Amino acid sequence: MACQFCEKKPVITLISGRKLCRNDFIKYFEKKVFKTIFKYKLIEDNDRIAVGVSGGKDSLTLLHLLNKLNSRIKNFETFAILIDEGIKGYRDKTIVNAKKFCKEHNIQLKIYSYKEEFGKTLDQLTKTTDIIPCAMCGVFRRYLLNKKSRELKSTKLATGHNLDDEAQAVLMNQFRNNVQLNARMGPITGVIRNKAFIPRIKPLYFMAEKEVMLYAYLKGFTSSEFIECPHAKFSFRGEIRDLLNEFENKHPGTKYSIINSYIEVLPLLKDKYKFTNSRIKECLKCGEPCSGTVCKACELVEKLIKKNKITIKN
Ligand code: SF4
Ligand SMILES: [Zn+2]
Ligand SMILES: [Zn+2]
Repeated sequence: MACQFCEKKPVITLISGRKLCRNDFIKYFEKKVFKTIFKYKLIEDNDRIAVGVSGGKDSLTLLHLLNKLNSRIKNFETFAILIDEGIKGYRDKTIVNAKKFCKEHNIQLKIYSYKEEFGKTLDQLTKTTDIIPCAMCGVFRRYLLNKKSRELKSTKLATGHNLDDEAQAVLMNQFRNNVQLNARMGPITGVIRNKAFIPRIKPLYFMAEKEVMLYAYLKGFTSSEFIECPHAKFSFRGEIRDLLNEFENKHPGTKYSIINSYIEVLPLLKDKYKFTNSRIKECLKCGEPCSGTVCKACELVEKLIKKNKITIKN
């Protein structure tokens, strides 16, 4: 069967059953991302947006689309920020993609590494502790992205999270009885008025992973070589991802259903947890925003300190 809009050969069948050719798929994709940006007011006048990039399909697609929007509406600026965890065979490869992309598109790229900021790479840390790599990696990455975005005077931090990532996060929080965390998510997060906390926006929120993958491929952003972090398979998220993919194969539309029902209850969740989630304090050790007395990054550094001589650079 041909594309829904023309006679050309389809490149994708959407979950709704619609078939689209290359050009119509690209139009559909861009329109849906821009609609998310406008509907949820992800970008406002004079925003300075730090785009968290890894060099993978999601972040390069996001960077490209924000750049494209910026060429039409000039009321905001963007630059890219990359955190190098120090994962051999993975991050060193994706950094090459990110640098190449930013150079070709004339986008400023700022790189910060665990080695520089904490004294050790993630690879070095994983050899000396039994803490799961993703648990360390996620805490340190979130810490650096917020801190560096703020130091670079950003008003928002954009990340390339897609529908699959978000459906996984919703389920992870359900499975761990962390409903309060679900109240902090959505296409725009961290909107609690606190100048130390940079709000996060997720313009790819409603785009399925396979759609992002196809868009990035058709646009030539990523090579056909699939590079995955060697630690991904040991994570809780990895297990949820496999479970969800299996379910989606049997029952197409499952991921959309999770996100649509989540978006419907989000205002209720935000209301229920508004007092708990608005209590933001300053970490006693580093001054970064946190909900307790010490932030998660400082807690982790404390655990790792003996064997690793790790520290937080101020
Ligand atoms: S899979 Fe885990 S260790 Fe690898 S980059 Fe992601 S969070 Fe970090
Ligand atoms: Zn078409
Ligand atoms: Zn701290």
